[in-house]
Amino acid sequence: MLAPSCAACETPLDHPTRGPVCEACWRSILPLTPPLCDGCGVPLPSWRVISVDVSRCARCRRARSRVDRARAVGAYEGALRSIVHALKYDGRRSLAIPLAAMMRQRGRDVLNGAAAAVPVPLHASRRRARGFDQAADLARHLGLPVSRALRRVRATAVQASLPAARRHANVRDAFAVTRAARDLFGAAVVLVDDVCTTGATLDACARALKEAGIAEVRALTAARVVGRPR
Ligand SMILES: [Zn+2]
Ligand SMILES: [Zn+2]
Repeated sequence: MLAPSCAACETPLDHPTRGPVCEACWRSILPLTPPLCDGCGVPLPSWRVISVDVSRCARCRRARSRVDRARAVGAYEGALRSIVHALKYDGRRSLAIPLAAMMRQRGRDVLNGAAAAVPVPLHASRRRARGFDQAADLARHLGLPVSRALRRVRATAVQASLPAARRHANVRDAFAVTRAARDLFGAAVVLVDDVCTTGATLDACARALKEAGIAEVRALTAARVVGRPR
């Protein structure tokens, strides 16, 4: 029988009992390099300009997101990308625990003082097909009460299959609050998802939450797409 191999880099695992991803892969996940945009958390080009606006990226300055502050463990590439894929598409649910531990560590300022973690919901049909919900799995291990304050009212095309320009339209009005949102009136909450691509999904979620009276919506994702021309 073949020795179990790392779910990210496929080298044989020295310590398979410690989980499906090797030490080297976990260590290779670097934080995003500061300075980061105050809003969406993408790395800003440089420290060069001293101005009021420099703390936000061009995109956040153009159109302010309803998400007050978003952070991620790292860029959606390399080992982190493989780990997210293994969690989501290969059903390696145990990966949610170490991944959430990294989210806790690198997203400390976003989690601090928040009343609840709100997973970005999958549509029921997709959750049934997959058998689990990776955002909910991550949210469970962040040290905050989990609130299912959102539900998806409309099945949407997979964001990754769409050009950036169409993603906002695709998810607009796709989310609604549940009765659980009432307990969060006036509070700060943290949206939780596996990947943030353009921010359109998080923005649509934040919109529903804020319309229901939630005062502050932050976001924490395992990974964040960076460096794409916009
Ligand atoms: Zn590995
Ligand atoms: Zn930004």
